Amino acid sequence: MDNKKLAQLLFPHIDKTPDYYEELYPERGLAEGARVTRFAPSPTGYLHIGGLFGALVDVLTAQATGGVAYLRIEDTDKKREIDDGVSAIINGFDYFGVEFNEGVTGFGTEKGAYGPYTQSQRAEIYQTVAKSLVEKGLAYPCFCTAEEISEIREKQENGGALIRGYFGKWAKCRELTYEDIEKNLAEGKPWVLRLRSEGDEEKKIIFDDVIRGKIEMPANIIDEVLLKSDGIPTYHFAHACDDHFMRTTHVIRGEEWISSVPKHIELFKACGYKVPKYAHTPQVLKTDEETGDKRKLSKRKDPEAAVGYFVEGGFPKESVLEYLLTLINSNFEDWRRANPKEDISKFPFNLKKMSSSGCLFDLVKLNDVSKNVISVMTAKNVYENVAAWAKVYDPEFFEIFTADPEFSTAVMNIDRENPKPRKDIARWSEVKEYVSYFFKPLYQPDYTLPENISKADAVAIAEKYLAEFNLADDKDQWFARIKDMCEPLGFTPNVKEFKKNPEAFKGHVGDVSTVIRIALTSRRNTPDLFSIMQLLGEDEIKARLTEAIENFR
Ligand code: GLU
Repeated sequence: MDNKKLAQLLFPHIDKTPDYYEELYPERGLAEGARVTRFAPSPTGYLHIGGLFGALVDVLTAQATGGVAYLRIEDTDKKREIDDGVSAIINGFDYFGVEFNEGVTGFGTEKGAYGPYTQSQRAEIYQTVAKSLVEKGLAYPCFCTAEEISEIREKQENGGALIRGYFGKWAKCRELTYEDIEKNLAEGKPWVLRLRSEGDEEKKIIFDDVIRGKIEMPANIIDEVLLKSDGIPTYHFAHACDDHFMRTTHVIRGEEWISSVPKHIELFKACGYKVPKYAHTPQVLKTDEETGDKRKLSKRKDPEAAVGYFVEGGFPKESVLEYLLTLINSNFEDWRRANPKEDISKFPFNLKKMSSSGCLFDLVKLNDVSKNVISVMTAKNVYENVAAWAKVYDPEFFEIFTADPEFSTAVMNIDRENPKPRKDIARWSEVKEYVSYFFKPLYQPDYTLPENISKADAVAIAEKYLAEFNLADDKDQWFARIKDMCEPLGFTPNVKEFKKNPEAFKGHVGDVSTVIRIALTSRRNTPDLFSIMQLLGEDEIKARLTEAIENFR
């Protein structure tokens, strides 16, 4: 067969050669060891938490080696695509501050010299490579109908064939002559382009996965489809063309692609390309509430599968990133302990330290991480984050919280910016309830007393405190004053003494403080009461104590 003639027959409109693209997309000339990675989502209209996880690995790998990470949109699967499925992905990355060096930057926009970075705009490149494969006798058109293909599958299944698919004796279009093909085309028969696999069933391929080490698998023998009947490439073919011409050095992708590696290696070799390094990342899993089994996070069943869940739920981006980092690299937590204030981008990320088994995404752990992350933020930072979140998700609270920024920042500063900050808040959405007693429109008094304190004693404590409190006290004086109130009221300032001899007292200084705390905030637990009083101010304290006295009766 005259392959050149066949190539011209199949691709008359293609006048370029792969050499043209070799020149257009030259080697990147980066320093030795610099890695070029890519994140390659399909435009599904949302960013999966596993996607954020994968993209972080790409970006950190490039960052750690002085390389390049780029974003490519894989929109060759029309079934999965939705109109502008890109913006939500980009917005997700923006929110989390994940930045690619090049690639798609928005719906219809991109940056970088190796584009277009959207597969649907690369048809000519795929067809040019496809044409050259036909010229080399490494690809051929297949006219088998869907029925014929399922017939083959059925026969293989019934015959107990170990390897199933279009190959060897089953691949009848391998044998078509130029004349057969010409006739089929003239009749308008649809065709796909297949790889003419040269794989040997008896042979194994071995590759060194950066995360998993050596993997051995049977070589590919299937005549894989390269171009579908509409001329659009399959994932496999687009992967080879794109990662070659975009000069990817490290293909980091989900573990579900491991089984396709033999196919991919054969394809790279058929095209004459250097095979990139592969790193297959573990899946992000959760423990199913009903069965207790670990399973993949599913968009349908788990709201937390989409990153929007964390944005809407008010998790700071830093918390989500911090938590993902603990899943990504086993040594991250040690590094964090040694560098509590350092930015994540300084973490010496190492692909080799990734675990190869599934990562369990645990919302409870995320909550703990988030409390830590928020506890070390400045009050100003917290204020701004809460305001930004509330503006979108709780406008009513936004108005209240931002009416007096200085006051609200001071509220957020209680027990913060010190060596042992409180760790009460995991999400911005919790702040409204947390600070409600500071804001009249939110405050709902509740004067319920603990069982060990009688109404009469509560009244006596509140009355005495109303008469004696002094906002000019410093913190020591403030506490000394509360202690001094104890004995005249039948309580003891000394907790140890109370424990030794509980019958002798009505209670201890803690109970007295609790009454004051309830009178002023309607809570038994709050951050530092001294600071709270400073912020409430004289008039409000008096009003609240008076109100409480009436309600304790
Ligand atoms: N578009 C593929 C996917 O959505 C990307 C796989 C890869 O990174 O090569 O899974």
